[in-house]
Amino acid sequence: MTHLQRALKRALVIGIFLCMLLAVIVLRKAIDYATEPEGDKDCPPVPTGAGPSGPVRIQPAVTASVVWVQRGGTLNDASCLSRTPVYGVVAVRELDDVRTALAFARDNGLKISVAGVRHSMGGQAFARDAIVLDMTRLNRMSLDTQARTVTVQSGATWHDVQRFLHPRFAVKAMQSADVFTVGGSISVNAHGMDHRAGSVGRTVRSLRVMLADGTVHTVSRTDNPRLFNLVVGGYGLFGVILDAEIDVTENAVYRPERRVLRYRDFPGVFAGEIATAPQYELMYGHLSTAPHSYLDEMILYLYRRDSARVIPPLAEARPVKLRRLIFNLAKQGSLPMRLKWLAEKYVEPRLEACPVSRSQAQGDGEACLVSRNHRMHDSMRHLKNSLEGETDVLQEYFVPRDRFVEFVDRARSVLRARGANLLNASVRVVHPEDNTLTYARGEMFALALYLNQSTNAAGHAHMRALTGELIDAAAGVGGTFFLPYQLSYTPEQLRRAYPQIREFFAAKKEYDPGGLLSSTFYAKYAPLVGD
Ligand SMILES: Cc1cc2nc3c(=O)[nH]c(=O)nc-3n(C[C@H](O)[C@H](O)[C@H](O)COP(=O)(O)OP(=O)(O)OC[C@H]3O[C@@H](n4cnc5c(N)ncnc54)[C@H](O)[C@@H]3O)c2cc1C
Repeated sequence: MTHLQRALKRALVIGIFLCMLLAVIVLRKAIDYATEPEGDKDCPPVPTGAGPSGPVRIQPAVTASVVWVQRGGTLNDASCLSRTPVYGVVAVRELDDVRTALAFARDNGLKISVAGVRHSMGGQAFARDAIVLDMTRLNRMSLDTQARTVTVQSGATWHDVQRFLHPRFAVKAMQSADVFTVGGSISVNAHGMDHRAGSVGRTVRSLRVMLADGTVHTVSRTDNPRLFNLVVGGYGLFGVILDAEIDVTENAVYRPERRVLRYRDFPGVFAGEIATAPQYELMYGHLSTAPHSYLDEMILYLYRRDSARVIPPLAEARPVKLRRLIFNLAKQGSLPMRLKWLAEKYVEPRLEACPVSRSQAQGDGEACLVSRNHRMHDSMRHLKNSLEGETDVLQEYFVPRDRFVEFVDRARSVLRARGANLLNASVRVVHPEDNTLTYARGEMFALALYLNQSTNAAGHAHMRALTGELIDAAAGVGGTFFLPYQLSYTPEQLRRAYPQIREFFAAKKEYDPGGLLSSTFYAKYAPLVGD
């Protein structure tokens, strides 16, 4: 063998070794990006300046009747950035568990917070050193087919409700994912992909709420409307929602459609072709997060009612690992982000589950149809990960429809200037809501931004600055922002978006003079903007 041949052979061996090494590294990364996390993610909390909790006085006689699932320790939420020391967590199974916990807190000078599945992202579902009511075991429900309502206990998730209603009925208004509790959804007045229905609060016929003094009240738009409008979108500060009677709708079969358009054309398309077309029953949009078409190109998802009636059992949304892999890969730079957008445009339509094929339903040719429940039965499991040093946070802005284009232009400038790692930007429709702390006083479009951030001090500072500028951009076009997310806005920004906040906090003192019900949100902002 000549010297050259030996050198080539060595180079080949080294090349193969390096390729294998690279393949192993890529494979390991891919596994990390796709793996289902074990349990909830926990990150170092955003520093608040508060010191460690002091010891809290306990009266053992009363403690015995409270069912603790956690004593002491900390709680976190879906942002993973809100780790907070709590007095303990109480499992609520019955109405009396709430009453007992309220009495225990009152007798011991403690606070109470109410928690669903803690997907709010700024500690709205707990307060420092508070007793946290875990409502998730309070989840029974019953259906009234005549009235077309479901009466559901507040700890049930939409996932539970859908399984209960399927195949005949479906939820009328909920978020675009099904993981949330009914109580948590009413308390933020959540909204989703039914562009006609409005927010969850509109579909609540009545609800039962236990106030801080332990009394139970049934409230509705006609029966004690003041309290009703404080509890809807009331962030758990006026009472503990026990159950609610909620409108349901028919579980219709839909033919999905996708349109690719420019964001500029969306308001016109919506007003001219969608809002006026009753056959479209669900709608949302995704704006591109890829550099070449950033917040410009838009995929509009439309669900047109079909006459098919064959509805198979509900199945979980899939493929979770592939979706998680694509999502986490996209965080790594502009090329994968570009690929994610291309995948959403061209590949996803082919991968989507097709529960009802038209041939199965009517025998006249093939097309992919979905039932309303199938489309809304998505727990977004792919958004959960165990990647270290980073997390994903959600924000949402509501803007008057005629200023949507202007807002997107402003938001794009802010996001670009700040080098934000924007993972998803979805557009939804909201209507005027008349709950006290309403985020929409007129017909609006909502822009929800899902952003990746580092969990270190620089990451927090960056996100705080970015959020402040986006809030100002929304305010500049007469818009507001959604409150279940990080508490990085100033009291002035809160007052500007929610001029009714003083009235809201004043009413809170009326209904809960001892301030028994609390949260991180309340503890932070009530002293700053209340009277
Ligand atoms: C990935 C993701 C996607 C989201 N998508 C949407 C969306 O499409 N549309 C939308 O509108 N929102 C959306 N949200 C926000 C979400 O709707 C809210 O955070 C909602 O409150 C979550 O419900 P939960 O059960 O986790 O409530 P929690 O976070 O546990 O609680 C939220 C608030 O409700 C109060 N609360 C909970 N249960 C009760 C009760 N029984 N009685 C009184 N108060 C109670 C809590 O005290 C707290 O103030 C999203 C959030 C995430 C993380």
